[in-house]
Amino acid sequence: MFDNLSDKLNSAFKKLKGRGTLTEKNIEEGLKQVRMALLEADVNYRVAKKVISDIKERALGQEVMDSLTPGQQVIKIVFDEFTRMMGDSHKGLNLEGRKPAAVMLVGLQGSGKTTTAGKLGLYLRKKGKKPFLVPVDVYRPAAIDQLKKIGKQLDLPVFPSTTDMEPLAICEQAVAMGREKGYDTLILDTAGRLHVDEALMAELQGIRKGVHPSEILLVADAMTGQDAVNIAGSFDETVGLDGIVLTKMDGDARGGAALSIKAVTGKPLKFIGMGEKSTDLEPFHPERMASRILGMGDTLSFIEKAQEAVDIKGAEALEKKLRKNQFTLEDFRDQMASVKKMGSIKDLIGMLPGVNTKQLKDMNIDEREFVRIEAIINSMTPDERRNHGIIKSSRKKRIAKGSGVTVQDVNKLLKSYTQTMKMVKKFNKGGMRSLKNMLPF
Ligand code: GDP
Repeated sequence: MFDNLSDKLNSAFKKLKGRGTLTEKNIEEGLKQVRMALLEADVNYRVAKKVISDIKERALGQEVMDSLTPGQQVIKIVFDEFTRMMGDSHKGLNLEGRKPAAVMLVGLQGSGKTTTAGKLGLYLRKKGKKPFLVPVDVYRPAAIDQLKKIGKQLDLPVFPSTTDMEPLAICEQAVAMGREKGYDTLILDTAGRLHVDEALMAELQGIRKGVHPSEILLVADAMTGQDAVNIAGSFDETVGLDGIVLTKMDGDARGGAALSIKAVTGKPLKFIGMGEKSTDLEPFHPERMASRILGMGDTLSFIEKAQEAVDIKGAEALEKKLRKNQFTLEDFRDQMASVKKMGSIKDLIGMLPGVNTKQLKDMNIDEREFVRIEAIINSMTPDERRNHGIIKSSRKKRIAKGSGVTVQDVNKLLKSYTQTMKMVKKFNKGGMRSLKNMLPF
């Protein structure tokens, strides 16, 4: 994400950073490059022009800060203005008031609405809410089935919509059912069309008037760049929006939509979709995004994700086991699972400052290895998991067969487990610290 933009900006900044003093000409040259980089990233032309003029004004009239070199000061101003352009601070969902509250997702077909409905459900449940998924797209049976399937996978309740029902009636019945069953947040997955059309807009307006959603969110595909910005404009005019979710930010979207959608439409970007999995949804933080773009890394998001995945109590229990030499293959597997839960390792490493994204691309982290390890351990008997010493050759053959790997793979795992045990014994102080050292690669 934003690799190209980041590279271009960094080369513009490199020239500024090295200088002891900056002239107006230096600054103007640097900003010209920044402007080009923004336009190439498909940032709206007027937004790019405005942000550059704001940066220039501040950079030329800048107050002298002792702690920063002139170049760093310019970068700091660029950072501030990028953050402002994207909406200053994180804007969360407003679900106060009505019970149950409704989050209405709108957007074109294929933008990622249904996937986002599931992601949001999961996100809200983690926040202690009781979400209720409501399929409202009665025109495509596949859309209803898709949400029902997602609900089943995530163990989230789904309203039993059928294609012969009226969209508004579905929403009204879902509100009643939600109230009855104690679900506090409805997630309405409305119909999408290929283009903005009047009939659809009328339907969405009807739902809006009928159920008064607390949040109407547009789901838009970041890969479509300025089209996403224009679509947001038309939905806002006709239906009215409270915020935007940009999906497919994990792809090679150039970043223009994320950078300009707030400035053009006035509506905040609230979440970004970073992949197809249900955990790939991130609350959008303008300042963190600005720091990612400027190559300062996104340490805060990293820490948040890591904290979410690491169960502190579990880590403490583990420490105890380690100290007593009771760390079994079962614990090893659970540990793997908690590392896996942190999401794609590459994504996580990419959030750290100072990591060169090109190097990262060349890095070969095989996440399938996790799956293999889990499968092997699952094929063992409880006795074997608790006492790996009994796993001799005939058992190894059986385990390999059961998990579809070779005996060498089983040996490799056992070796990495015993090595890990040795290693963690040296690090049995802080939970996080030992966890990191448990990685078998
Ligand atoms: P809908 O028609 O708006 O309901 O769109 P879907 O939820 O069916 O999504 C369309 C396609 O986009 C599916 O293949 C999704 O897996 C994919 N998709 C949705 N969100 C993301 C995302 O954040 N990243 C990626 N890479 N794919 C996504």
